Amino acid sequence: MTEALYAHCDCGQLGVTISANPYAIVQCHCRACQRRTGAPYGIGVYCKRSDCQITGTSNSYVRQGGSGSDFENRFCPSCGTTVYWLTPFHPEGIGIAYGCFDGDDLPAPDRSVWESERHHWVEYKAKGRWLEGRTGPKIS
Ligand SMILES: [Zn+2]
Ligand SMILES: [Zn+2]
Repeated sequence: MTEALYAHCDCGQLGVTISANPYAIVQCHCRACQRRTGAPYGIGVYCKRSDCQITGTSNSYVRQGGSGSDFENRFCPSCGTTVYWLTPFHPEGIGIAYGCFDGDDLPAPDRSVWESERHHWVEYKAKGRWLEGRTGPKIS
């Protein structure tokens, strides 16, 4: 990645610009990510907070994460898109919704978590795969 990338909500009010490469791209099959996205899985693009510039206003929804920690979703109050989130697993980073980025410059996920809740028909190419969360048994 050579240029800044921009992620934004559906109406465009809430956005995040990242000025450096993400340090991880995680495909998560947990039920909470399925509900948050309305899709069979979620993908988070994790970047250092210091590399992110957030514009617009957001509302917050905090849920208990699958591994027992608070997971704070930040979503646009107008259109409801969750653009980014904060989790204690990434104290110096934020997770940004993969689908909110413009264009197709992002690489594929480099890891896959909560495989135990993956829909059987979903295929992936992630290099690292975990059965549950990021502390459970590793598949590959
Ligand atoms: Zn919006
Ligand atoms: Zn998840």
